[in-house]
Amino acid sequence: MLELLLASGNPHKAQEFAALFDRQLLSVNAAPSKIEVLEDGETYFENALKKATDYYSQFKVPVISDDSGLTVEALPGELGIFSARFGGPGLSDEQRVEHLLEKLGELECEKRNAYFSCVLCFYLGPEEIYFFEGRLDGAIATEASGEEGFGYDPVFIPKNLKSRQSVACDPGWKAANSHRALACQKANLFFKERNGQKTPD
Ligand code: IMP
Repeated sequence: MLELLLASGNPHKAQEFAALFDRQLLSVNAAPSKIEVLEDGETYFENALKKATDYYSQFKVPVISDDSGLTVEALPGELGIFSARFGGPGLSDEQRVEHLLEKLGELECEKRNAYFSCVLCFYLGPEEIYFFEGRLDGAIATEASGEEGFGYDPVFIPKNLKSRQSVACDPGWKAANSHRALACQKANLFFKERNGQKTPD
């Protein structure tokens, strides 16, 4: 069993990850205190690594971190690693969603393609760092719907969701199929194999 400290000040994220990982293999614990990390990397990988190294330097135990965002093909460079700041600082999730809908306006369906990305970083020590990536393809709706989830969920319609609803309408589907869930599934597989290869002490 690998015990990991979550490089985030958000205790809900620790619960979310704990539910996505195989409990026999990986346990995720909230950090005792939050560290302010400057997320000025140019990729999700750089930002995830920054969070992980800062928490590792402070707490000296294996750490897990993540970075995620939404890429909207019609707005190149505007969201992605900047998703949390899209539209300017201080906006609520609802205001960012509104801003996105306004920017896309009447754009036709075929031009509203988008995808969520998530990069997980397992920083077990300076010599042992692993990354896992998940991606969820879909499109931006013309109006918000659904009450669940967070961020851009109310306007994101996944390609493979048969009902053609936003992910905010179907939290069960999201939990099993999201970019974050896909990255966690890859990590589960990797650590399962790694465990199998270990010789008993
Ligand atoms: P962070 O990785 O928690 O910093 O998230 C970066 C930004 O991407 C935030 O603005 C989130 O709202 C958005 N984002 C990341 N994952 C999701 C998701 O699963 N649903 C909706 N928005 C997301």
